[in-house]
Amino acid sequence: MTRRTEASWIQRDRARVWHGFTQMDSYATNRPVIVDRAEGRELIDVDGRRYLDAMSSLWVTTLGHRVPELDEALRAQASRVAHSTLLGHGNTVVVELAEALATEVPVEDPRFLFASDGAAAVEQALKIAFQYWRNRGVDGRSCFLALGDAYHGDTIGSLSVGAGGFGTDLFDPLRFPGVIHTPGYRDPEWCEAAIGVLRARSSELAAAIIEPMVQGAAGMHVAEARDVQRFGRACQEAGVLLVCDEVATGFGRTGSLFASQPGGLRPDLLCLGKGLAGGYLPMSATVASGPVADAFLGEDLGPAALYHGHSFGGNALAAAVALRHLQLLLEWDVVANVVERAEQLAKRLAPLASEAAVADVRTCGLMAGVELAPPADGLRWGRRVCAAAVEAGVLIRPLGDVVVLVPILTSTEDEIDRIVDVLETSIAQTCR
Ligand SMILES: *Cc1c(COP(=O)(O)O)cnc(C)c1O
Repeated sequence: MTRRTEASWIQRDRARVWHGFTQMDSYATNRPVIVDRAEGRELIDVDGRRYLDAMSSLWVTTLGHRVPELDEALRAQASRVAHSTLLGHGNTVVVELAEALATEVPVEDPRFLFASDGAAAVEQALKIAFQYWRNRGVDGRSCFLALGDAYHGDTIGSLSVGAGGFGTDLFDPLRFPGVIHTPGYRDPEWCEAAIGVLRARSSELAAAIIEPMVQGAAGMHVAEARDVQRFGRACQEAGVLLVCDEVATGFGRTGSLFASQPGGLRPDLLCLGKGLAGGYLPMSATVASGPVADAFLGEDLGPAALYHGHSFGGNALAAAVALRHLQLLLEWDVVANVVERAEQLAKRLAPLASEAAVADVRTCGLMAGVELAPPADGLRWGRRVCAAAVEAGVLIRPLGDVVVLVPILTSTEDEIDRIVDVLETSIAQTCR
């Protein structure tokens, strides 16, 4: 009887909802979970089955689902105002959020341009970097340095600084020109290669963009803090703006509040998204340093202003949740839990690396990738291992044949153990 409830929801869903990164022809047969509600770190489907959310609802959920304090912040703001535009006007809760973030972000004298999605935050950073040099009267600096394997979002601009793959190569003709791609973190020489280009072509470069410490969507490729630091210094020496895309890594995910911090980076532009509002509401931000933002000052209606802004940038409901979320992250010392749980996760996953079915295990904080080693193409090991885990009540999603684990930041010791136990069993069942 319960299965009938699920089947009918899947049917209705399949008929009218177009899911991202999903082949709708096989959507229904891949046993999608139709979420009805949540409790803590569990999602509950239409038949009442519970799943541990081991992908943080695609890396956005930080403290958990239905956190009483965040629910309350949302309700309280709803009784004031849900939304008012930031184009030419202000909103008290957005001012409070910007002030609270200002003391935490690794950016000098920060200014916040809010948007709704990570891709838009990246898009804004690219346009700001481009116009910055124009405003300063510097010619020629119109190119970007980006890393191989990078992922910065799905809009055309963010796609242009991304590395492609995952079926997006088709869009290559739409990518803007002038992006110099140097190797990503999987190449131990990535830093040398990037520094070489920074030195040789500094006069052409508006900015360099990286995902500090970990290239997430690439399958969790991890850099050394020392290399990230050298890269940052090389940008500074070349006078090239440094853009840190912390859409995935921000707000404690890697074991520090921001992943720019272990390498001592002070980006000129910082992109935030995903966890900014605790995974509750779509909110992103491009954080510009004071010196960058000040280059846009000038006469009213003149050419120096940034002519860019999204309808829902600085949404008041999202801002209220984001403000309370930041307070809770600090009050509860969530980062300390991430550090402990990350150590446990890395230790528990390490033995998997020596199994024949596994090519590599990579972790950075509570972001982990277990790369499977299928003996032939087309076996869909990533998909099948994750399906087995979902069947066992642990919700995960692969990136190709990399099984990705992104537990909620407040996960307990038992939950981390359970995630790894279920993954081990799923691999053993599937990859014989
Ligand atoms: C997810 C992600 C983005 C894109 O964010 P959206 O909110 O999905 O547009 C950009 N950069 C990185 C590093 C990400 O992980």
